[in-house]
Amino acid sequence: MKRNFLDLEKSEIEDFCRQKGLPAYRAGQIFRWQARGIASFDELTDLSKELREALDEAFYPGLPKAGKSLASKLSSSRKAILTLKDGEIIEAVLMRHRYGLSACLSTQAGCRMGCRFCASTGLGFHRHLSRGELLGQLLWLQREAGEKIDRIDLMGIGEPLENLEEVLAFIRRIRDEESLNISPRKLTLSTCGLVPAMNELAQAGLPLTLAVSLHAPNQEIREKLMPVARLYRYDELLRACKAYFAATGRRVSFEYALFKDVNDRPEHAEELARRLADMQGHVNLIPANAVAGTGLLASGEKRCREFQTILERRHIQVTLRRSLGQDIDAACGQLRRNQLSPS
Ligand code: SAH
Repeated sequence: MKRNFLDLEKSEIEDFCRQKGLPAYRAGQIFRWQARGIASFDELTDLSKELREALDEAFYPGLPKAGKSLASKLSSSRKAILTLKDGEIIEAVLMRHRYGLSACLSTQAGCRMGCRFCASTGLGFHRHLSRGELLGQLLWLQREAGEKIDRIDLMGIGEPLENLEEVLAFIRRIRDEESLNISPRKLTLSTCGLVPAMNELAQAGLPLTLAVSLHAPNQEIREKLMPVARLYRYDELLRACKAYFAATGRRVSFEYALFKDVNDRPEHAEELARRLADMQGHVNLIPANAVAGTGLLASGEKRCREFQTILERRHIQVTLRRSLGQDIDAACGQLRRNQLSPS
């Protein structure tokens, strides 16, 4: 069976070349092609026809197939539904910021974390994505954009820390100067708070930004929104965030989506400020995207601003995120959900 070309590590390409009796520099050439995102081995014009055929016999190029691609009028975000080799459907989003382009990638086909507010929940978990499938999304978006992407968010469908081995391999691959040469500093990984894997990540020695989906000022409210809170309790999670900062020197970013009357009242803001008072962190407030059937409503703009003001007064670093791409269902698994179960 053919393997995904994008899954190959440089050492595996070297092995391939050795087996074919090719000089070592060929491996470098092929590795650099991997980072360009090819749709067919015919594109490798500086290689002989025999070598291209040999590659084609052993591997498939690994770029996902495009399904629906939607452009957003509001924020120049672009969201794509992509199909993988085995027919799995995932989402990837391209966002334009003042400083350039960023990509939001999925790490699993489906998710089993079961967060109540999230559109990825309910459709079940199918499988982890491989390092090459992460790279494939990025290359597909880059090809689509026609320019280099320089920031990456692992914030699409799935829980990246459940798939840590492939995620780390992806981060190390794109960091390689001969590959995409993207520094881990330009990467944010978002987790629902899997404490043991957070500790493992802290040991990996990669200067990426860890975002933690907190969404609550205390254990009780967090449990109502996120089943994972029963596994790793609020205090334990905050301790892991502290340890992450101690090990890496990187401030943790706390994601906090505001849901009407559930976690957005002034007393919730006060409590959150108390809990985070001694943390080296930053709160990212997100106007929630209401997902039908969850029984949760988005907070109004006034509530969001009040919440922000309270945190500021308590000297908590906070930003209120503009919601990018709401008009294209670009938030959190909504497009895949509509695709799999058209309403
Ligand atoms: N599993 C990871 C990453 C995927 S979700 C995590 O939980 O962090 C990416 C972010 O979108 C998370 O912060 C998640 O909590 C948030 N999110 C999911 N559904 C949302 C919704 N309906 N409104 C606002 N944010 C949402």
